[in-house]
Amino acid sequence: MRKQIVAGNWKMNGSNELLNSFVPALAEEAKQSQAEILVCPPALFLGDMRRLAGEYLLVGAQNCHEAVSGAFTGEISADMLADMQLSHVLVGHSERRAIYGETDALIAAKTKAALNAGLTAVLCVGETLEEREAGRTLDVVLGQVSAVVEQLTLADWANLVVAYEPVWAIGTGKTASSEQAQDVHQAIRAALAEYSPEHADAMRILYGGSVKADNAAELFACPDIDGGLVGGASLNSDEFISICRSAN
Ligand code: PEP
Repeated sequence: MRKQIVAGNWKMNGSNELLNSFVPALAEEAKQSQAEILVCPPALFLGDMRRLAGEYLLVGAQNCHEAVSGAFTGEISADMLADMQLSHVLVGHSERRAIYGETDALIAAKTKAALNAGLTAVLCVGETLEEREAGRTLDVVLGQVSAVVEQLTLADWANLVVAYEPVWAIGTGKTASSEQAQDVHQAIRAALAEYSPEHADAMRILYGGSVKADNAAELFACPDIDGGLVGGASLNSDEFISICRSAN
């Protein structure tokens, strides 16, 4: 059975106060959880969060640069994240694709950099509302997945997690129904199975998009949904812990 993951993406939110009040309780939760619990705070908080997280709570970054080092003012490399004992990095979040113009080629390069540094990359993919309404959901999502996996070896897949996040459901309060989500997750797994059925079966595919305490259990119970990537609700400790308890 695949171990589920509940990942919190704080985006550009949070504070020292939130860190100190919430992370010790979450670290305790992670110790008892059947699922993996991961938090991705803004880069500024990564070091302190890593120290507060203890042995079981996983800490990851929201982005990395594709180069190992160099003259890239304001950027952070995957190697630096690994050096800080972090385990994960999000790549290809829809906000980075839409606001910062990240292309599939750049996201593939960032994914490779993350894997080369020994991190697990959480590859975010998802269609916009216009793409869904035009019947292009699977074209878009499977295209985003294959643009990255084609650059990887099957051995790399051990350190890859896919997060399906329909753009129209992110931060909007509109969650995909469990059927809509399961259909896309199943299609992603089937597309991965064309490379290797065994590796596809082992791949964790998370759902993201307005996951809340009251919809998490139904989503996480779907056969191809292996947990969630949670934005807004990851900033509220009671809500996030309740989502974590809906996993596995
Ligand atoms: C996200 O940003 O990855 C996300 C899923 O946000 P929200 O849960 O707020 O929709």
